[in-house]
Amino acid sequence: MAYISEGLRQGVRERAHERCEYCQTQQVIVVSMEIDHIVPESAGGETALGNLCLACVGCNGFKLDFQRGIDPETGQEAPLFNPRVQGWNDHFQWRDDGLQVIGRATVVRLRMNRDAVVNSRQRWVQAGWHPPKE
Ligand SMILES: [Zn+2]
Repeated sequence: MAYISEGLRQGVRERAHERCEYCQTQQVIVVSMEIDHIVPESAGGETALGNLCLACVGCNGFKLDFQRGIDPETGQEAPLFNPRVQGWNDHFQWRDDGLQVIGRATVVRLRMNRDAVVNSRQRWVQAGWHPPKE
């Protein structure tokens, strides 16, 4: 794994407003954030701001080195969401209750509605922290 300097990590965290750039989970004490290579190093992705994003342990753990997932509507492979070139709100939306992310290939591949995060969202909605406002 490439060395990512503290300055670069700080830049990624600040740009992301301390939120997972996939599932939008906020950096809180119980959630560990990692720096994701959007294009994986194994595919030649650079360790530079333009190819890095902040991702929670869950999203990053399911993303691994994948760049594509299966779109559940078409059954075809589709590229995963790229937070550097696509807008979250153009690509995903929150279900009305704020508990589920509505999307396609990336939601499935990264299991963005996994039980643990949905349970957390339920508490965050009650606390008024979620869904995050832009
Ligand atoms: Zn996440």
